[in-house]
Amino acid sequence: MTYKISRRAFLQASGTAILAAGTSAGVLAEEQKRTAPVIAGNTLVPAPLPKAKGPRVVVVGGGWSGLTVAKYLKKFDKDLDVVLIDRNALFVSCPMSNLWLADQINMDFLTHSFLDAARNNGYIFFNATVVDLDRESRKLYTEQGYIDYEYLVLAPGIDYDYQRIGVEDIEAEYYIRNNYPGGFVNASEYLTLKNKLENFRGGTFLLTVPAGNYRCTAAPYERACMAAAIFKRNGVKGKVLLLDHNAEIKIKKDGFQNAFEQLYPDIIQYEPSVDIQSINLDSREVESEFDSYTFDDASIYAPVRASRLIEHMGLVDPQSLQKEAHIDPFMNHLVGDEHVYVTGDARSQPFSKSGHTANSEGKFIAEVIAAHRKGERLEWRSPQTMCFSGVKIDPLEAMNIITYYKYDKERKTFGFDRVHLVDVWSVKSGQAGLAWAEGMFKDMFYT
Ligand SMILES: Cc1cc2nc3c(=O)[nH]c(=O)nc-3n(C[C@H](O)[C@H](O)[C@H](O)COP(=O)(O)OP(=O)(O)OC[C@H]3O[C@@H](n4cnc5c(N)ncnc54)[C@H](O)[C@@H]3O)c2cc1C
Repeated sequence: MTYKISRRAFLQASGTAILAAGTSAGVLAEEQKRTAPVIAGNTLVPAPLPKAKGPRVVVVGGGWSGLTVAKYLKKFDKDLDVVLIDRNALFVSCPMSNLWLADQINMDFLTHSFLDAARNNGYIFFNATVVDLDRESRKLYTEQGYIDYEYLVLAPGIDYDYQRIGVEDIEAEYYIRNNYPGGFVNASEYLTLKNKLENFRGGTFLLTVPAGNYRCTAAPYERACMAAAIFKRNGVKGKVLLLDHNAEIKIKKDGFQNAFEQLYPDIIQYEPSVDIQSINLDSREVESEFDSYTFDDASIYAPVRASRLIEHMGLVDPQSLQKEAHIDPFMNHLVGDEHVYVTGDARSQPFSKSGHTANSEGKFIAEVIAAHRKGERLEWRSPQTMCFSGVKIDPLEAMNIITYYKYDKERKTFGFDRVHLVDVWSVKSGQAGLAWAEGMFKDMFYT
């Protein structure tokens, strides 16, 4: 089956008639269907968990944010009864997965046990899917039953927002999501992408960089380098076509520019300011306002939004294009509810959506909750963003950056504070990146 999708919102299936899908009423109805709460019968019984042995804090999402919050809640207040919930039974890290694509680390490096994390740090892990929330009665619903909470931390990460590249039809979205996965949300996507890159036999491999505050600013550029390195190693006459919505490389600009030109001059074709208007899945063609680009295979990174769970729960800030939660920008609690917090990539502050940011913010928010219980208040502390980007393999060579944030009272938003940038790649930085990741896994999974 083939589809043509476009910003003008039409769908053409196998040459059949064009179906208008883009009226605002139609789009709204579709969106409502997608975000309607799912309440099954067994959500009305208590979840099968031990009785709370203290004030219960429930953390939703065992990613970089939730794992950190759960561990540090127990560190800051050992009397809290902490439950971490994730719908997955196994943790597979997004950070470092680009290096795994190019065989610089193995899968063991990325995978970790939620059970170990919970046992080592004295909290409960519950493998379940959260479906709804009743803030009035402080009840969180999972598909296996409800949980009463004293405090709730929502750290469910992101979803793709295909509508922002003109994909308004669910079938077309399904086709792209499954055949050209972005590789920025879950481990199945990474496996598919690895297979695609490893088995690519020549032609053009399309990668995209979306608009907005997408997950991990440097990762799409790093991924282009890793894909090019794989083609080079495998002797494949392939091109990596990197279409960037942005006017220029968003981070480590000189470093990535140099890497594209010096390491992969005949492989990476970088095109900035490409606002994707339509994707013709039949002819494998991407159209912008001025140009069109054909491809043989692709990984299409759609713009991101906060996890749909935030919207299911009715917590979206109406001003937020990325459907992020309406939270206090300093303490991360919902506006008007100091018992519910949103952290990690689902937050609304414009911090870098990165694992390191989620980890350092998570420690602070755990401390904020422990203090709130004692009737105390903390001063805001900036999260830290640290990011290593591999550009060369065998041996791995990388660049890195560390940043902090400060609040601009006039503009009422956050900007960068101190920035330490090393945009010259080296083996030393490649090794430092691996050591950084080991340290982070140790922090989240061990005592
Ligand atoms: C390829 C790639 C490379 C990256 N490289 C780096 C890097 O080098 N450095 C860096 O710092 N960051 C990097 N990042 C970014 C980093 O992965 C994210 O910023 C980080 O994972 C965000 O943490 P989080 O906890 O908010 O979300 P996540 O880690 O996505 O965790 C969210 C969790 O919530 C769970 N969940 C969602 N909904 C439900 C539900 N309804 N019920 C139960 N559970 C639910 C999910 O299963 C998931 O485990 C990279 C990301 C990618 C994809």
